[in-house]
Amino acid sequence: MDRQDRAPGLAALEAELARDLQRLTLPASAWPAGRAGPDGAPMPDVLVIGAGMYGVAAAAALTFKGIRDIAVLDRAPEGLEGPWVTTARMRTLRSPKHLPGIDLGIPSLTFRAWFEAVRGAEAWDPLYKILNADWQDYIGWVRRALRLPVTNGVEVLSVHPAADHVGVTLRDAAGTRRVAARRLVMASGRAGTGGPSLPPGVDPALFPALAAHSNDSIDFAALRGKAVAVIGAGPSSWDNAAAALEAGAARVDLYIRRRVLPQVNKGRGSANQGFFEGWPSLPPAEKWRLLAYMHDVQSPPPHESIFRVLDKPGFHIHLGTPLRAAAPGQGGGVALTLGEGVVAAADFLILGTGFSIDMARIAEFASFAGEIALWSDRYTPPPGLERAEIGRFPWLDAGFGLTAKHPDRAPGLSRIHLFNHAAMASLGAIASDVPGVSIGAGRLARQIAAAIFAEDIDTLRARLEAFDEPELKGTPFFAL
Ligand SMILES: Cc1cc2nc3c(=O)[nH]c(=O)nc-3n(C[C@H](O)[C@H](O)[C@H](O)COP(=O)(O)OP(=O)(O)OC[C@H]3O[C@@H](n4cnc5c(N)ncnc54)[C@H](O)[C@@H]3O)c2cc1C
Repeated sequence: MDRQDRAPGLAALEAELARDLQRLTLPASAWPAGRAGPDGAPMPDVLVIGAGMYGVAAAAALTFKGIRDIAVLDRAPEGLEGPWVTTARMRTLRSPKHLPGIDLGIPSLTFRAWFEAVRGAEAWDPLYKILNADWQDYIGWVRRALRLPVTNGVEVLSVHPAADHVGVTLRDAAGTRRVAARRLVMASGRAGTGGPSLPPGVDPALFPALAAHSNDSIDFAALRGKAVAVIGAGPSSWDNAAAALEAGAARVDLYIRRRVLPQVNKGRGSANQGFFEGWPSLPPAEKWRLLAYMHDVQSPPPHESIFRVLDKPGFHIHLGTPLRAAAPGQGGGVALTLGEGVVAAADFLILGTGFSIDMARIAEFASFAGEIALWSDRYTPPPGLERAEIGRFPWLDAGFGLTAKHPDRAPGLSRIHLFNHAAMASLGAIASDVPGVSIGAGRLARQIAAAIFAEDIDTLRARLEAFDEPELKGTPFFAL
């Protein structure tokens, strides 16, 4: 429970939400037939890994479809899921405040409804952008208000697909154990697509004493008086540079490969219902063309992050300066080789170099990663549009399900729904960022409902045949 849960306005909002749900008869009644797992015990219909924004949205959308036998697991403690109050070092969300959030079409579930309940309606207009901690609290509120079955402190170590279930090895305070579910939703976030992307030439011996990725926890207080090198042009580089300077770093050198920063956030330009709803059914060639375009133009950091460092005396930017190598220096610290053999030194290195899309580096998928079909297995781009990075995205089905390079060798892969940014190539930005979350969760839940319905059809047909509510009882035509 977070501090905002005690705000008096929340009780009224929760009453409004209860009324909304009642009018919509949500969550829908449970209908799946239920199945026994490999040990003969009943298994949940869906196990959702990750209770961040997307895991919470997925769980909510599933219950709204009547898939109520679910469990949501997150290794992080409650209130610390995802990056918002842990490794995200911007002051506010980059997204505009008017995005509805995890609303699933219900006004009382929107961020604005939560914010006004907590801070008062008059606080909305003056709000510039959403504070990270508020976004975290909002996600936690949705989870609690909808009574989603989340358990924290449980880590999924490995996933084992089978023809009729998915086996999952878990670790929690009680130890390690194996469970099963009919389907698995991996809502494991940006770090869950293949881990941090590290530039070649960075000596692993630097970590953790002399270097960190921006997604690591970093002791910024220990950087006081130090010289810090930051690599990368993306938002996290700028925010980490700012965090280091604000913590008292003597200087921060930001090294950026590009000579000119990207100018326009095409992600925002494509954050509309057309892209979200239409992308999944575009032909692969059009998806690839759009991905190649966005890959080439990249996105700029938010101007707020740039202004945060510009006036700081210790800030130095080096455009057109790619990192070639980084290794422990002779006399301590980090020795950097930059651009055309230029050498520099720093006390600490922060890599704001983003995340990989690499199925082979998703630890939970280790036992079957090689079986997952990728875009490079399914689509050959025309000359000039070859982009190795895009080829590494998994080729997903319409419900975020993994597909197999050779279906006979890896049955059950489609029971694993990859609900994170790795879905971008196949399904668009509906498992990546804030704007697409409700649409993505709706699609996921619809597709899982259809798959479970098809699987359970024998039982559901038998139930239908046994259904005998006598509609005409009491009328002259009652004949049962
Ligand atoms: C620094 C940063 C800033 C961002 N800012 C914005 C922004 O302003 N606007 C925007 O639209 N998008 C932003 N994004 C992108 C995106 O919205 C976030 O990454 C968001 O957190 C995605 O939500 P999620 O639920 O998919 O993943 P997360 O919020 O990362 O949640 C994933 C959860 O899965 C859990 N998990 C993962 N693996 C396991 C496992 N094996 N076992 C148990 N639990 C596991 C993790 O503990 C985590 O809590 C940002 C991303 C980052 C990294």
